[in-house]
Amino acid sequence: MEFDYLIVGSGLFGAVFAHEAKKAGKRCLVIDKRDHRGGNVYCKEMEGIQVHWYGAHIFHTNDQTIWRYVNQFAVFNRYTNSPLANYKGSLYNLPFNMNTFYQLWGVKTPDEARVKIAEQIASLPFSRPSNLEEQALLLVGTDIYEKLIKHYTEKQWGMCAKDLPSFIIKRLPVRFTFDNNYFNDKYQGIPEGGYNQIIDGLLDGIEVKLNINFFDDRKYFESNAHKLVYTGKIDEYYDYRFGALDYRGLRFEHQIVNQRNFQGNAVVNYTDSETSYTRIIEHKHFEFGEQEQTVITYEYPLLAGKDTEPYYPVNNDHNTRIHNNYKELSKREKGVIFGGRLAEYRYYDMHQVIASALKASRDELK
Ligand code: FAD
Ligand code: UDP
Repeated sequence: MEFDYLIVGSGLFGAVFAHEAKKAGKRCLVIDKRDHRGGNVYCKEMEGIQVHWYGAHIFHTNDQTIWRYVNQFAVFNRYTNSPLANYKGSLYNLPFNMNTFYQLWGVKTPDEARVKIAEQIASLPFSRPSNLEEQALLLVGTDIYEKLIKHYTEKQWGMCAKDLPSFIIKRLPVRFTFDNNYFNDKYQGIPEGGYNQIIDGLLDGIEVKLNINFFDDRKYFESNAHKLVYTGKIDEYYDYRFGALDYRGLRFEHQIVNQRNFQGNAVVNYTDSETSYTRIIEHKHFEFGEQEQTVITYEYPLLAGKDTEPYYPVNNDHNTRIHNNYKELSKREKGVIFGGRLAEYRYYDMHQVIASALKASRDELK
């Protein structure tokens, strides 16, 4: 056998695992069905701007080890994500904070804001959340739910907010300070010059073959390495034997615009139901760019099918039941490590994928 590990997928999970395995003296081959490395953190340079090809990627973590790990490969800038929400032409700050409360209700102190939210919560017929809608209403009340959450959520996930798990909305902070930072984490930033250098650093000296789908010649690839690290869809690995898991997809529409500053912010969310896209990203603002032109990306949500990339696992009860069956099988699988957003079927951010890959490599290579 030519390799110790065949790694399916050159995204963060595959690249971190490969890096650690190479450091431990192992021979790795990484394959990816796309025509570039990096999975969803891939950036493409357009007009001198690093375009986050698969949507806005802001690095954030509370874990100093993970922060130091990524800082080996890039210099991070001081970017702090502070998206705006556009609801029927009016702008509101995100995440939900004193600026948002002032814009909505004219309240100026935390006590006034708490009273306003408490009044709205008091009329709700439940006190414990059993889904995203109830969780959101209990956190921020009816006004914010209606203007900033319900329609965005239903567009993004293509289903009723009552059918989604509550943890999704808990990704967003609610705070009673005038602080528009979208994350609570201690460390945050964008790698100056984009994410590709992190992937290149991780994969330095490792053989990577692109435009290769593992399933086109599964037997050959499996016979070529002692072990497999698989970062694709877990249901596909098992040929959908317990049924297909739902994944949410996106269509990215990238445009070069002949002006210096299109929207004045990197991320603007469209939270009404009439606008079919969920957000517009203006990439130059991630790196405080001064270029003559700008590049923007519209994100249109869609159901991921056979021919569209899966981006988000849909972790509701229905899919959790199906996923548990695959998970049980995967635990018993000899010689295969499953990891990353698609193989673990988890709504992971980048720092969590890196942590998961570091743990998997530690367990494997000890
Ligand atoms: P992926 O990046 O999906 O990599 C998997 C790779 O495997 C892909 O390259 C794929 O082509 C390849 N592959 C799959 N099947 C096969 C096969 N059969 N044969 C060969 N190759 C295969 N995280 C943050 O921390 N901050 C953010 O701001 C943020 N924003 C995001 C915005 C969007 C729109 C999305 C979709 C994700 C965002 N994330 C963000 C999450 C982040 O992208 C992921 O956590 C991370 O990139 C996942 O890495 P991965 O290696 O698990 O998967
Ligand atoms: N969300 C919302 N309104 C917003 C932004 C987010 O209702 O303006 C909800 C929505 O359900 C979304 C979830 O919060 O799916 C998580 O948002 P996040 O920005 O973390 O999503 P991601 O960047 O992963 O797409």
